[in-house]
Amino acid sequence: MQVYKEKEAEDFLEKEGFTVAGRMLAGKRTLVDVCNKIGYPVVLKVAEKLHKSDIGGVIVDVRNDREALNAYRKLERLSKKVLVQEFVAGECFLIGIKRDATFGHVLAFGLGGIYTELFKDISLRVCPVCRDDVVGMINETKASRLFNARGRRLNRKAVENILIKTGVMAKRYSCITELDINPLIVNEKRAVVVDARIVFG
Ligand code: ADP
Ligand code: MG
Repeated sequence: MQVYKEKEAEDFLEKEGFTVAGRMLAGKRTLVDVCNKIGYPVVLKVAEKLHKSDIGGVIVDVRNDREALNAYRKLERLSKKVLVQEFVAGECFLIGIKRDATFGHVLAFGLGGIYTELFKDISLRVCPVCRDDVVGMINETKASRLFNARGRRLNRKAVENILIKTGVMAKRYSCITELDINPLIVNEKRAVVVDARIVFG
């Protein structure tokens, strides 16, 4: 079994054609340079850990060099390596894959971010999936109301395309036993992977 956590998983997904937030690893000396390369606002995260926010390992909306150094000071207690990521504004959704002994790959879509566990607002389809399947999946969730809430129109088509792409990828990599993209941040322009984990069996 092999597990790809955040950076490795994101690099893998980017090669597969997913839109992934700009990101670079940084140490104390390179931090300011890296943040400026990515461009403020950024997010700082402890690298190579799961459930990062549970341990205070994610600091979002860091706006300048001073804030970046302060955030780094908090994170370096948890890990010397810090991931600097482009900050993406929008709503959090999740996309997942689980390989089931009976059904094979099953695709999941739902509410992402910090409320995933609380609300369990998830729809499922057995792969392969077509456009109608993924449209149905999105519409079944309560989270789909976020697409047209607060006077915005989030890019629903981008999410449909990613769901289809995820299904195709599962077929190509039968060795994927689990995939979690959480969150996929969606705004009016795009749908961006900002955290992912992949398990190869
Ligand atoms: P973990 O799941 O390990 O706790 P995440 O990388 O998913 O860590 O980050 C936790 C939360 O921080 C996300 O659910 C999201 O709300 C926010 N977040 C993470 N990365 C970004 C980003 N690049 N842009 C905006 N918000 C982010
Ligand atoms: Mg996450």
